[in-house]
Amino acid sequence: MRPSPRLRPTVWDGLVVLCVAALALGLAFFQWRGGTSQALTAVVSVDGTEIDRVSLDRAAGEKTYRAGDYTLTVEYAAGSARVLSSNCPTQDCVHTGSVTRGGQSVVCLPGRFILRLEGGTPDPDAVDAVLG
Ligand SMILES: [Zn+2]
Repeated sequence: MRPSPRLRPTVWDGLVVLCVAALALGLAFFQWRGGTSQALTAVVSVDGTEIDRVSLDRAAGEKTYRAGDYTLTVEYAAGSARVLSSNCPTQDCVHTGSVTRGGQSVVCLPGRFILRLEGGTPDPDAVDAVLG
């Protein structure tokens, strides 16, 4: 039984359709990631691992995180977040104060703790500007 010669173009057509679909999905994802309509979200990571993600479209109250040997309390308000208290030696994370725009972050170096805002209105000047 010989394979039908019409099978070959059909397979290739399918591959092309798949490629186009993947490309379209990728573009949609890229636009979604870079869009300005995204809700402002605080992303908390310790030692490079994301441990929490809090939407800031409304106040979410206080949360406490363990970061290495230290304990940090973060206050989430509507549209802003700040490290309320920490027992780290430098206190830079506390002194950083509130972050309110996407791209801003609060860093606690001793605890390897990073609170980074994503989405909302992009602030190109603030990227990596708030380090402590
Ligand atoms: Zn700190």
